[in-house]
Amino acid sequence: MSLTTVGSVAFDAIETPFGKTDKIIGGAGTYISIASSFYQKNQNLISVVGEDFPQHMLDTLKNRSINLDGLQIKKGEKSFFWSGKYHNDMNTRDTLITELNVLEHFDPIVPDSYQNTEYLMLGNLSPSVQETVINRLNNRPKLIAMDTMNFWMDIALNDLKSCLKKVDLLIINDEEARQLSGVSSLSRASKIIRSFGPEYLIIKKGEHGALLFHEENMFCAPGLPLEEVFDPTGAGDTFAGGFMGYVSKTDDISFENLKRAVIAGSALASFCVEKFGTERLLEINSEQLEDRIQEFVKLAGFQMNVSLI
Ligand code: AMP
Repeated sequence: MSLTTVGSVAFDAIETPFGKTDKIIGGAGTYISIASSFYQKNQNLISVVGEDFPQHMLDTLKNRSINLDGLQIKKGEKSFFWSGKYHNDMNTRDTLITELNVLEHFDPIVPDSYQNTEYLMLGNLSPSVQETVINRLNNRPKLIAMDTMNFWMDIALNDLKSCLKKVDLLIINDEEARQLSGVSSLSRASKIIRSFGPEYLIIKKGEHGALLFHEENMFCAPGLPLEEVFDPTGAGDTFAGGFMGYVSKTDDISFENLKRAVIAGSALASFCVEKFGTERLLEINSEQLEDRIQEFVKLAGFQMNVSLI
C-alpha cells in the first residue's frame, strides 16, 4: 500500500525559552514524510521548494524511500519561510514571519507514479490546494486525512468546508476544533465537525495527548510527560505522519487499528520535540521507537479487576 503526502517543505527559524535557531529545515510535508518513513517504505511527496533549498535534505528524504517525483524545484525562487516564537509554557506560540514565496502560486503536480495511491495525507496548506490534489487523483484513495489550522479558518473558511466534504479524517488541535465548531466542549465539537464531512476526527491536545472519534467510539491517548521539551515545532505534523504511516502500512482502518496508529503518531511526536527541527527524528531508530511505544502502552494501561466502590 502506498501513502501520498502533500505539504510544505520549508525553512523555519524558531525561538523557544531554551534557544534560537537560524534558518533550519522544516515544513509540514517534511515532518510528515520523515515520520511516516518509520512505517511506510512506499510513499510519495507533493510539494514545492525554491532553488535555495539544500540538495542534501532532498537526498535525506530520498534515502528514506520518499519518492520526490512530485516535488517541484522552482528556478530563481525562494522556499517557503516560517518563523515562530514559543511562550514559556511551550504550548502556545506566535508566528513572527510567514513568507509564502514558492507557496504563493503553488500548483500541485500529481505524477503518474502517484496515481492509485491508497492513502492520502493533506498536510496543512491552503484548502484549495488540498482539494486540488484530491481532484487530480484518478481514483479515490481508501482514506484521505487532512490537517489544517486556524489561519485557514480565518481567511478561507468556505474553501476549507468544501474540502472537508471530501475527506475521511480531520486532524486538528483543541483550539482549532473549538474555533471550527463554535463550541467549547470537545465532545460536542467532535459531532459538529464530523457533520461537515469527515467520518473520523482526531483532536490533538499538545502535551496532554490526543482524542480519536468515530461514530459512538472515542479513544483517549495519553501525552507522555517528557523531561525535556526543546521545540514543539512539527509535533502535530509528525503525529499525523506516524499515524498515516502506520495505517497505510497495516492497511486496516478498523477503530482498534486506528487506536494503535494514534499511539504510533504520539510516540514519534514525543521524539520530535526533544531537539530543534527534524534533528531528533533523523537520529532515532526503530528500536528506540519501539521502546517509546511501550512507554505509552504502560502509561495508558489500566485494568479493572476489582470494584472501586
Ligand atoms: P506544526 O508545529 O505541526 O504546526 O507545524 C510547523 C510547520 O508548519 C513548520 O515547519 C512550518 O514550516 C509549517 N507551516 C507553518 N505555517 C504554514 C503555512 N501557512 N502553510 C504551510 N506550512 C506552514
